[in-house]
Amino acid sequence: MQSGLRKIIIAIDGYSSCGKSTLARALAKRLGYVHIDTGAMYRAVTYYILRQHIDINDPDEMAQALKKISIQLTFENDSQVTWLNHENVEEAIREPHINEFVSNVSALSAVRTAMVAQQRRMGLEKGIVMDGRDIGTVVFPEADLKLFLVADTEVRVERRWLELQAKGININREDVRANLLLRDQIDSTRADSPLRQSKDATVIDTSYLTPKEQLQIALDLARSVIGTVASAEKPASKNFHKGMPIPFPSG
Ligand code: C5P
Repeated sequence: MQSGLRKIIIAIDGYSSCGKSTLARALAKRLGYVHIDTGAMYRAVTYYILRQHIDINDPDEMAQALKKISIQLTFENDSQVTWLNHENVEEAIREPHINEFVSNVSALSAVRTAMVAQQRRMGLEKGIVMDGRDIGTVVFPEADLKLFLVADTEVRVERRWLELQAKGININREDVRANLLLRDQIDSTRADSPLRQSKDATVIDTSYLTPKEQLQIALDLARSVIGTVASAEKPASKNFHKGMPIPFPSG
Protein backbone atom coordinates (compact mmCIF):
# COMPACT_ATOMS: atom_id res chain seq x y z
CA MET A 1 0.00 0.00 0.00
CA GLN A 2 1.51 3.32 -1.00
CA SER A 3 1.20 6.15 1.47
CA GLY A 4 -1.22 8.91 0.63
CA LEU A 5 -3.85 6.53 -0.69
CA ARG A 6 -7.22 6.37 1.01
CA LYS A 7 -7.25 3.70 3.72
CA ILE A 8 -10.35 1.61 4.01
CA ILE A 9 -11.98 -0.95 6.29
CA ILE A 10 -12.49 -4.40 4.77
CA ALA A 11 -14.91 -6.75 6.53
CA ILE A 12 -14.77 -10.50 5.83
CA ASP A 13 -17.52 -12.67 7.28
CA GLY A 14 -18.72 -16.20 6.73
CA TYR A 15 -19.20 -19.68 8.10
CA SER A 16 -16.49 -21.65 9.89
CA SER A 17 -13.57 -22.90 7.79
CA CYS A 18 -14.45 -21.06 4.59
CA GLY A 19 -10.95 -19.58 4.46
CA LYS A 20 -11.70 -16.16 5.99
CA SER A 21 -8.51 -15.78 8.00
CA THR A 22 -6.28 -17.14 5.24
CA LEU A 23 -7.71 -14.63 2.78
CA ALA A 24 -7.80 -11.76 5.28
CA ARG A 25 -4.15 -12.32 6.22
CA ALA A 26 -2.98 -12.42 2.60
CA LEU A 27 -5.09 -9.42 1.61
CA ALA A 28 -3.84 -7.34 4.53
CA LYS A 29 -0.26 -8.22 3.66
CA ARG A 30 -0.67 -7.13 0.04
CA LEU A 31 -2.33 -3.87 0.99
CA GLY A 32 0.01 -3.12 3.89
CA TYR A 33 -2.97 -3.27 6.23
CA VAL A 34 -3.44 -4.84 9.66
CA HIS A 35 -5.32 -8.15 9.79
CA ILE A 36 -7.55 -8.74 12.77
CA ASP A 37 -8.92 -12.24 13.32
CA THR A 38 -11.81 -11.57 15.70
CA GLY A 39 -12.45 -15.30 16.19
CA ALA A 40 -9.22 -15.35 18.19
CA MET A 41 -10.70 -12.84 20.64
CA TYR A 42 -13.79 -14.97 21.27
CA ARG A 43 -11.55 -18.01 21.58
CA ALA A 44 -9.39 -16.23 24.17
CA VAL A 45 -12.46 -15.35 26.25
CA THR A 46 -13.59 -18.97 26.04
CA TYR A 47 -10.16 -20.19 27.09
CA TYR A 48 -10.25 -17.92 30.17
CA ILE A 49 -13.78 -19.00 31.11
CA LEU A 50 -12.95 -22.69 30.87
CA ARG A 51 -9.70 -22.32 32.77
CA GLN A 52 -11.29 -20.30 35.57
CA HIS A 53 -14.41 -22.53 35.66
CA ILE A 54 -16.72 -19.56 35.18
CA ASP A 55 -20.43 -20.35 35.03
CA ILE A 56 -21.51 -18.69 31.78
CA ASN A 57 -25.14 -18.81 32.91
CA ASP A 58 -24.40 -16.59 35.89
CA PRO A 59 -24.48 -12.97 34.63
CA ASP A 60 -22.69 -11.57 37.71
CA GLU A 61 -19.89 -14.10 37.49
CA MET A 62 -19.57 -13.39 33.78
CA ALA A 63 -19.50 -9.61 34.32
CA GLN A 64 -16.74 -10.00 36.92
CA ALA A 65 -14.79 -12.33 34.64
CA LEU A 66 -15.00 -9.96 31.66
CA LYS A 67 -13.54 -7.16 33.79
CA LYS A 68 -10.48 -9.31 34.41
CA ILE A 69 -9.91 -10.22 30.77
CA SER A 70 -7.51 -8.23 28.69
CA ILE A 71 -6.87 -9.33 25.12
CA GLN A 72 -4.08 -8.02 22.95
CA LEU A 73 -3.27 -8.90 19.37
CA THR A 74 0.28 -8.49 18.13
CA PHE A 75 1.88 -9.40 14.83
CA GLU A 76 4.98 -11.49 14.29
CA ASN A 77 6.17 -12.38 10.80
CA ASP A 78 2.79 -11.33 9.41
CA SER A 79 0.93 -13.67 11.77
CA GLN A 80 -1.35 -12.62 14.56
CA VAL A 81 -0.39 -13.61 18.10
CA THR A 82 -3.19 -13.57 20.66
CA TRP A 83 -2.39 -12.55 24.24
CA LEU A 84 -4.69 -13.12 27.18
CA ASN A 85 -3.66 -11.12 30.24
CA HIS A 86 -0.11 -10.97 28.86
CA GLU A 87 0.09 -14.73 28.21
CA ASN A 88 0.58 -15.98 24.66
CA VAL A 89 -2.47 -18.19 24.04
CA GLU A 90 -2.24 -18.37 20.25
CA GLU A 91 -1.83 -22.15 20.17
CA ALA A 92 -4.04 -23.01 23.13
CA ILE A 93 -7.09 -21.23 21.69
CA ARG A 94 -7.01 -23.40 18.54
CA GLU A 95 -7.47 -26.67 20.45
CA PRO A 96 -10.61 -28.73 19.61
CA HIS A 97 -11.73 -28.34 23.23
CA ILE A 98 -12.18 -24.59 22.64
CA ASN A 99 -14.20 -25.29 19.47
CA GLU A 100 -16.75 -27.13 21.56
CA PHE A 101 -17.56 -24.13 23.74
CA VAL A 102 -16.66 -21.02 21.79
CA SER A 103 -20.01 -20.53 20.04
CA ASN A 104 -21.97 -20.72 23.29
CA VAL A 105 -19.66 -18.19 24.91
CA SER A 106 -19.84 -15.97 21.81
CA ALA A 107 -23.62 -15.94 21.95
CA LEU A 108 -23.59 -14.04 25.25
CA SER A 109 -24.41 -10.35 24.84
CA ALA A 110 -21.99 -9.29 27.58
CA VAL A 111 -19.14 -10.97 25.71
CA ARG A 112 -20.16 -9.47 22.36
CA THR A 113 -20.49 -5.96 23.76
CA ALA A 114 -16.97 -6.10 25.18
CA MET A 115 -15.41 -7.58 22.02
CA VAL A 116 -17.23 -5.30 19.59
CA ALA A 117 -16.15 -2.19 21.53
CA GLN A 118 -12.51 -3.30 21.33
CA GLN A 119 -12.81 -4.20 17.64
CA ARG A 120 -14.25 -0.77 16.81
CA ARG A 121 -11.33 0.90 18.55
CA MET A 122 -8.95 -1.20 16.45
CA GLY A 123 -10.58 0.18 13.30
CA LEU A 124 -10.34 3.85 14.18
CA GLU A 125 -7.28 4.37 12.00
CA LYS A 126 -8.76 2.34 9.12
CA GLY A 127 -6.31 0.31 7.02
CA ILE A 128 -7.61 -2.96 8.44
CA VAL A 129 -8.94 -6.28 7.19
CA MET A 130 -11.10 -7.76 9.94
CA ASP A 131 -12.63 -11.21 9.73
CA GLY A 132 -15.36 -12.80 11.81
CA ARG A 133 -19.10 -13.38 11.81
CA ASP A 134 -20.63 -9.93 12.39
CA ILE A 135 -18.03 -7.52 11.05
CA GLY A 136 -20.01 -6.23 8.07
CA THR A 137 -23.31 -6.24 9.91
CA VAL A 138 -22.54 -5.06 13.45
CA VAL A 139 -18.91 -4.06 14.06
CA PHE A 140 -18.44 -1.97 10.90
CA PRO A 141 -21.76 -1.71 9.06
CA GLU A 142 -20.18 1.24 7.23
CA ALA A 143 -17.14 -0.84 6.07
CA ASP A 144 -15.91 0.23 2.64
CA LEU A 145 -15.73 -3.33 1.33
CA LYS A 146 -17.58 -6.37 2.64
CA LEU A 147 -16.88 -9.93 1.59
CA PHE A 148 -18.98 -12.92 2.61
CA LEU A 149 -17.28 -16.30 2.19
CA VAL A 150 -19.10 -19.56 1.66
CA ALA A 151 -17.90 -23.08 0.78
CA ASP A 152 -19.32 -26.58 0.46
CA THR A 153 -19.62 -28.34 3.80
CA GLU A 154 -17.48 -31.31 2.74
CA VAL A 155 -14.74 -29.03 1.46
CA ARG A 156 -14.77 -27.15 4.76
CA VAL A 157 -14.62 -30.39 6.74
CA GLU A 158 -11.66 -31.60 4.70
CA ARG A 159 -9.79 -28.33 5.10
CA ARG A 160 -10.33 -28.21 8.85
CA TRP A 161 -9.45 -31.88 9.24
CA LEU A 162 -6.21 -31.43 7.28
CA GLU A 163 -5.35 -28.38 9.33
CA LEU A 164 -5.80 -30.32 12.57
CA GLN A 165 -3.83 -33.28 11.23
CA ALA A 166 -0.98 -30.95 10.30
CA LYS A 167 -0.93 -29.78 13.91
CA GLY A 168 -0.78 -33.37 15.11
CA ILE A 169 -4.32 -33.26 16.49
CA ASN A 170 -6.02 -36.60 15.90
CA ILE A 171 -9.74 -36.27 15.34
CA ASN A 172 -12.03 -38.00 12.87
CA ARG A 173 -13.85 -36.23 10.08
CA GLU A 174 -17.28 -36.93 11.58
CA ASP A 175 -16.35 -35.04 14.74
CA VAL A 176 -14.95 -32.18 12.69
CA ARG A 177 -18.15 -32.05 10.61
CA ALA A 178 -20.39 -32.16 13.68
CA ASN A 179 -18.50 -29.29 15.32
CA LEU A 180 -18.52 -27.13 12.18
CA LEU A 181 -22.24 -27.59 11.67
CA LEU A 182 -23.04 -27.01 15.33
CA ARG A 183 -21.00 -23.80 15.41
CA ASP A 184 -22.65 -22.56 12.19
CA GLN A 185 -26.04 -23.28 13.69
CA ILE A 186 -25.35 -21.53 17.01
CA ASP A 187 -23.61 -18.61 15.29
CA SER A 188 -26.43 -18.02 12.83
CA THR A 189 -29.36 -18.44 15.21
CA ARG A 190 -28.17 -16.55 18.32
CA ALA A 191 -30.29 -13.55 19.30
CA ASP A 192 -27.43 -11.05 19.50
CA SER A 193 -25.70 -10.26 16.18
CA PRO A 194 -26.22 -13.58 14.42
CA LEU A 195 -24.06 -14.53 11.46
CA ARG A 196 -25.79 -12.98 8.44
CA GLN A 197 -24.73 -11.96 5.00
CA SER A 198 -24.82 -8.18 4.82
CA LYS A 199 -26.95 -7.00 1.88
CA ASP A 200 -24.04 -5.04 0.43
CA ALA A 201 -21.49 -7.87 0.75
CA THR A 202 -19.86 -9.61 -2.21
CA VAL A 203 -20.19 -13.38 -1.88
CA ILE A 204 -17.16 -15.52 -2.72
CA ASP A 205 -17.60 -19.28 -2.89
CA THR A 206 -14.14 -20.55 -1.99
CA SER A 207 -14.90 -24.25 -2.56
CA TYR A 208 -12.99 -24.51 -5.81
CA LEU A 209 -10.78 -21.45 -5.67
CA THR A 210 -7.14 -21.63 -4.68
CA PRO A 211 -5.98 -19.16 -2.02
CA LYS A 212 -4.22 -17.25 -4.83
CA GLU A 213 -7.42 -16.98 -6.86
CA GLN A 214 -9.37 -15.81 -3.82
CA LEU A 215 -6.72 -13.21 -3.09
CA GLN A 216 -6.81 -11.89 -6.64
CA ILE A 217 -10.59 -11.48 -6.54
CA ALA A 218 -10.40 -9.69 -3.19
CA LEU A 219 -7.48 -7.50 -4.29
CA ASP A 220 -9.30 -6.42 -7.43
CA LEU A 221 -12.36 -5.49 -5.37
CA ALA A 222 -10.27 -3.67 -2.77
CA ARG A 223 -8.34 -1.73 -5.37
CA SER A 224 -11.50 -0.68 -7.15
CA VAL A 225 -12.77 0.70 -3.85
CA ILE A 226 -9.48 2.35 -2.92
CA GLY A 227 -9.36 3.79 -6.41
CA THR A 228 -5.91 2.63 -7.32
CA VAL A 229 -4.90 1.21 -10.64
CA ALA A 230 -4.36 -2.54 -10.32
CA SER A 231 -0.74 -3.51 -10.54
CA ALA A 232 0.58 -5.62 -13.40
CA GLU A 233 -0.50 -8.90 -11.86
CA LYS A 234 -1.97 -11.81 -13.71
CA PRO A 235 -5.76 -11.63 -13.47
CA ALA A 236 -7.56 -14.44 -11.66
CA SER A 237 -8.10 -17.55 -13.73
CA LYS A 238 -11.70 -18.10 -14.71
CA ASN A 239 -11.09 -21.84 -15.08
CA PHE A 240 -11.71 -22.85 -11.54
CA HIS A 241 -11.17 -26.45 -10.56
CA LYS A 242 -14.78 -27.52 -10.61
CA GLY A 243 -15.48 -30.81 -8.96
CA MET A 244 -12.13 -31.08 -7.23
CA PRO A 245 -11.92 -29.52 -3.79
CA ILE A 246 -8.60 -27.89 -3.11
CA PRO A 247 -7.35 -28.70 0.38
CA PHE A 248 -5.54 -25.89 2.13
CA PRO A 249 -5.60 -24.66 5.69
CA SER A 250 -8.91 -23.14 6.64
CA GLY A 251 -9.26 -19.95 8.59
O1 C5P B 1 -13.28 -17.66 13.24
P1 C5P B 1 -13.20 -18.74 14.29
O2 C5P B 1 -13.65 -20.08 13.80
O3 C5P B 1 -11.88 -18.79 14.97
O4 C5P B 1 -14.25 -18.27 15.39
C1 C5P B 1 -14.53 -19.04 16.51
C2 C5P B 1 -15.92 -18.73 17.00
O5 C5P B 1 -15.97 -17.40 17.53
C3 C5P B 1 -17.03 -18.79 15.97
O6 C5P B 1 -17.54 -20.09 15.79
C4 C5P B 1 -18.09 -17.88 16.60
O7 C5P B 1 -18.84 -18.58 17.57
C5 C5P B 1 -17.25 -16.84 17.33
N1 C5P B 1 -17.14 -15.58 16.60
C6 C5P B 1 -18.16 -14.67 16.71
N2 C5P B 1 -18.05 -13.46 16.14
C7 C5P B 1 -16.95 -13.11 15.44
C8 C5P B 1 -15.89 -14.04 15.31
C9 C5P B 1 -16.02 -15.28 15.88
O8 C5P B 1 -19.18 -14.96 17.33
N3 C5P B 1 -16.86 -11.89 14.93
